[in-house]
Amino acid sequence: MIYFDHNATTAIRPEVIDLITQIMRETGNASATHGAGRRASHHIEQAREQVAKAVNTRPAQVIFTGCATESINTILKTFKGERILSCANEHAAILDCGQAELEIIPVDGNGLIDMSVLESKLQTEPKTALVSMIHVNNETGVIQPIQPVADLVHKYGSLLHVDAVQALGKIPVDFTGSGADYMSLSAHKFGGPQGVGAFVFAAQKPIRPLLRGGKQEKRQRAGTSNVAGIAGMGLAAEMAITNMDTYTQLAAFRDDIETRLSDTLDGITINGQTADRVGNTISLSCQGVANTVQVMNLDLEKICVSVGSACSSGVAKPSHAITALGVSDEYALSTIRISLGWNTTKDDVETFINAYIKIINRLRK
Ligand code: PLP
Repeated sequence: MIYFDHNATTAIRPEVIDLITQIMRETGNASATHGAGRRASHHIEQAREQVAKAVNTRPAQVIFTGCATESINTILKTFKGERILSCANEHAAILDCGQAELEIIPVDGNGLIDMSVLESKLQTEPKTALVSMIHVNNETGVIQPIQPVADLVHKYGSLLHVDAVQALGKIPVDFTGSGADYMSLSAHKFGGPQGVGAFVFAAQKPIRPLLRGGKQEKRQRAGTSNVAGIAGMGLAAEMAITNMDTYTQLAAFRDDIETRLSDTLDGITINGQTADRVGNTISLSCQGVANTVQVMNLDLEKICVSVGSACSSGVAKPSHAITALGVSDEYALSTIRISLGWNTTKDDVETFINAYIKIINRLRK
């Protein structure tokens, strides 16, 4: 099988599997004060240091959660009843998290935030409490620089949350240097296990815990800690940083795919191609061929890519992240996402290119 859906979830690193299985054989609740508890707690604190180092912050600022969706919900719901701004092409964890106060800022043709609209909204009443922005778009791979947004947001006394879920391990992420106030992360996007996330918050910035009960995670997230998963996230974060070159080098595979498909097939468009992008993601529209049909035919060849759009009641809906770029529903419904990962090989790329050309030529006949 060729797996080109690493933005949905990436392959867990073998070293991480070894660590998780070793820790799962140990018994101990990290809140207990006896030896077994202290050992469990040590695994968590080590992971906190690894994650903190990976995003350049202090361990005390890192809180582990069950996923990035939980992290994002915790931060956005901290500002319940206050004005929050975000963009039209953000992840559903932001847009559909039930915050009635969320106001949407348009994006340009590459999916980058319209800074003049952001500034005019920041200037108007009621005062904006929080701006939430995606650092690397999960559909297109386009990179939104944090620092200029942080500077503007702070100029008007508001706070900035950064969804860095698709960024860590693909580009350098510097929480402290960027000036962000909050950041959300997810282990399964950078070689760790599913079901573990984290948020980072700058000192003195408010957090209203989503889960209340026990005193775990510095009283910011109640519930018995997932020791093995958290340890796996820590190791994965460390390895993602050490091996970041692998992701930047994927740009050569990405360019090869984009060039050869565009040269061979008519009606191919790459979304966000003129913007700064991470090396592993291709958002490709193939004129006149439904993305569901593309994905199904690739699946028959044992190649996994993503359709990018939600399917409800058997009807494909265009991806909001693609229509936000100012294109038609029909265009969005012909768009697939190809996302490469740390274990992608040149052979995988060759097989994919040949299969895709064969499928599209056959479908268009
Ligand atoms: N934000 C982005 C940009 C994502 O790509 C995802 C996952 O697809 C999430 C948030 C949610 O992450 P999780 O699966 O950990 O809830």
